[in-house]
Amino acid sequence: MPIRVLPDVLIDQIAAGEVVERPASVVKELVENSLDARAHRIEIDIERGGVGLIRVRDDGMGMAAEELPLALARHATSKIAALEDLDAVATLGFRGEALPAIASVSRLKLTSRVRGADRATEVSAEAGNRLDSRPAAHAEGTTVEVRDLFFNVPARRKFVRSDATEAGHVARLVERLALSRPDVAFRLRSGGRVVLDAQASPQEDWGLRVRTVVGEEFVSQALPVSHAAGPVSIEGWIGLPTASRAQADEQFWFVNGRSVRDRLLTNAARLAYRDVLYHGRYPAYVLHLTIDPRAVDVNAHPAKLEVRFRDARQVHDFVFRALERVLAQTRPGLSTAPTGLEESGPDPAALASSATNAPVGGRMPAAAGRGTTWDGRRELPLDRDAAESSRSIWALAAAVRDSAREGERAGAPDAPSGEGSEDALRRPLGHALGQLHGVYILAENEQGLVLVDMHAAHERVLYEQLKAQYGTNAPSQQLLEPIVVEVKAHDLDALLEHRAEWERAGFELGALGPTRVAVRRVPALVSGANVAELLRSVLEDLDQGVAAHHLEEPSDRFLATLACRTAVHAHRRLSLPEMDALLRRMEVIDRANQCNHGRPTWTFLTLSQLDRLFLRGR
Ligand code: ADP
Ligand code: MG
Repeated sequence: MPIRVLPDVLIDQIAAGEVVERPASVVKELVENSLDARAHRIEIDIERGGVGLIRVRDDGMGMAAEELPLALARHATSKIAALEDLDAVATLGFRGEALPAIASVSRLKLTSRVRGADRATEVSAEAGNRLDSRPAAHAEGTTVEVRDLFFNVPARRKFVRSDATEAGHVARLVERLALSRPDVAFRLRSGGRVVLDAQASPQEDWGLRVRTVVGEEFVSQALPVSHAAGPVSIEGWIGLPTASRAQADEQFWFVNGRSVRDRLLTNAARLAYRDVLYHGRYPAYVLHLTIDPRAVDVNAHPAKLEVRFRDARQVHDFVFRALERVLAQTRPGLSTAPTGLEESGPDPAALASSATNAPVGGRMPAAAGRGTTWDGRRELPLDRDAAESSRSIWALAAAVRDSAREGERAGAPDAPSGEGSEDALRRPLGHALGQLHGVYILAENEQGLVLVDMHAAHERVLYEQLKAQYGTNAPSQQLLEPIVVEVKAHDLDALLEHRAEWERAGFELGALGPTRVAVRRVPALVSGANVAELLRSVLEDLDQGVAAHHLEEPSDRFLATLACRTAVHAHRRLSLPEMDALLRRMEVIDRANQCNHGRPTWTFLTLSQLDRLFLRGR
């Protein structure tokens, strides 16, 4: 074949291959055009998953009659004029290729009336061939109608899935767009049925929008994020670890108002949850990153889904730290206990409204706002056995006992025996009343009854302490007589491989032969445990990778396993001072509201909830 210049329509069709993958991509381009035209209300209608019809109507600034045909011309845009403009694109579109590309693979009709004009104009195209424009009736704004998508490119048509699947893609997409702009009203109808109807809310107040789109449940179990450092800021809500999901289907990222699916950002968020989420669980979040447009390149992808940051490392660290800090606050905080609860107690509706009354954009107080740390405690933990091994080592870490003893000796303010139960009542977790089936601690605070999962709580406390002490020569205990432990030969290899970690954690170990290990020193934190059993079970877990979770650092993995194995296991009897000591620890330690696997460590019932259970006062 001789070399020749391709006809325009063919070029548009080739471009369509990049921009128009499926009906949802058409909706994306059209709605972004409406947003760029400063619409206040956008109505989207689709038929047959968008293949039959996609209609997007807006009340934006419209196009003048003489410009209308230009909108369908390739590389025609009103949004950038020079290369410099590309450095700081403030609009969603700028490539000037969407409309001609869509027109080249469908039957398209564009009707528009520019603001202030007395009538509208309409232009249509079929498979990219433009037909004449003519006067039409339309309010100020624009409607784009796309029918019979891919009717002239059967090869593409084959990649389109069922109507329901495509309609689902459109719905997910419109959700993202709606989340990006709470000040714009959105309505999506599919086959005449309203799928999403979101009223415009005042600018920056996207609590309401998040509730409409993602749901009450998410909001009632999320923590606000608001953090800025120099030219970068992050705002939004992140789901409590205890409200994690089996899929990554509620993760919304926006960069300068543009919805993106960006690996760097997703990774930073995942990393922030690493200590509080079990492998295979996904956090939910809605997060907006605002950054100098010059520091981010949105022209990295034809559909602009991915972005490129100039200082990728910095952005990653900023996001990671901002989220990690908020997650560290998930503990039973003093600020929330005595005054933070309404008489109605933590009922979902009340929490949701108190949480969403606080605007997210800009004015959101930093993480530990009122009510936030109580949010995750509404449901009683039902699924105990998820990560619990049936084997238990009847060990109690010295940590708990020591702090109880210290308290007795010093009469420290947080000492259970040093303060009256009146004072303890006012603490978030109150004072211990007793133990239930050797599994739960029952405690009483001013609001009512507190229930603590002993193992989960202790595991968190230990893990945080072990991490803090790791490699710091923290107190460890020389054993009078070394404890000799029989292990399997390959376990011994594994042990020697991890020796540095054991030692940094405060152990001193030595091989006594191919299957015997001598333990000469143990960290004070685990000195109450059955060392032989502890050693064996940690080895086994490391070997099978069962406790490996999602933790990336080998040392974290090791410490988490150690914490899990050292923690009080079910059916261990604790004294009341021991229980109180654990409660006090939980109140001060980071991330105390969930164990290392993301299961809740405690929950509570208020007096009024108890009253309701007994139909009192009715
Ligand atoms: P881009 O958005 O990259 O500029 P498009 O092909 O999507 O390219 O649109 C071409 C031009 O048509 C836009 O630059 C804009 O001027 C105009 N346009 C498209 N849709 C609308 C709309 N809904 N309201 C007003 N103008 C529009
Ligand atoms: Mg566009």
